[in-house]
Amino acid sequence: MTRRKTNNITGILRIEGIPYHDAWISYICVKCKELNLEKIGQSLLKPEDAYENCIWECSNCGYVHCKQSDLPFDNWPKAFTDSNSITTERFWKAFFRIATEHIESYWKQCNCCGRVLPFSAFSKHSNWGPLERQMECRGCKGAINAELNPKRTKQQLYESSIRRRAAELLLEGENEAIVIEELFERFDNKCFKTKKQLKISNRNTWAIDHILPSKYLYPLTVQNAALLSKDANESKRDKWPSEFYTNNELIDLAKITGANLDLLASKKPKINPNIDVDACVSRFLSVRERSNLKKRLSELKKLILSYNLVENLSPENKKLLGF
Ligand SMILES: [Zn+2]
Ligand SMILES: [Zn+2]
Repeated sequence: MTRRKTNNITGILRIEGIPYHDAWISYICVKCKELNLEKIGQSLLKPEDAYENCIWECSNCGYVHCKQSDLPFDNWPKAFTDSNSITTERFWKAFFRIATEHIESYWKQCNCCGRVLPFSAFSKHSNWGPLERQMECRGCKGAINAELNPKRTKQQLYESSIRRRAAELLLEGENEAIVIEELFERFDNKCFKTKKQLKISNRNTWAIDHILPSKYLYPLTVQNAALLSKDANESKRDKWPSEFYTNNELIDLAKITGANLDLLASKKPKINPNIDVDACVSRFLSVRERSNLKKRLSELKKLILSYNLVENLSPENKKLLGF
């Protein structure tokens, strides 16, 4: 296979022409025990169809796996290995069922390292072929992520999650209840990013995108909620909308939600200018029975400091927080 540099931001090479939507089948040759791989394309096989139609020739010994073949087992009585026998018929039915019945039995080719690997070697990606897996294996994905995010140390990831948590604490009470049925209606039952159809009852396949992230102190409101597939939402996370959505998507998003397009499209994140930090802090402090209050206070304090919001606080709240 030839490797050519393609247009991607990491500089990690992809192999051109790998049909990464295709599924493969693996099976062990009945005669020589060699592992064989059959590319079967963009839809999975039904066991009955595979039994009726598949003719798989071993790449090592040439033995043909199909319902017309006699079994090559010398230790079985001849009457049992004849293709017309009921024993052999049952054998082939089960053989094709083993190979095709479960999605976990399928394999897929990585377009980075070129290996054909089991289903489980790829992370989930909705809408990507019949296996719904990413185009690169988890090994290559790890390398790509390291290249994309070289400076995100564990410590930084930890700090960013603390910051989000502190922001969420501060925003408690600012968030609106989102009526899920209405959200689905506004977004036409589709992931706004991938346009994939979503089912409201399939709770683990969709998520609500906090369009302007809580990290920048935007509460979750009807205007600030988008419907995304779980995968799309995982890539969106805390990103500012213009870092994740295209210009056209931002225009559509503003239309659907009524959000301010200039804000959505601004290149740099902006801290919510309308947030009443003082009211948020007062509300937070009025709930005294919280567990971990001390730790949460120190998280909030750091957040307020890092956003230069200390001067927005009343003298009372300043004192209570220890500024
Ligand atoms: Zn063989
Ligand atoms: Zn790979």
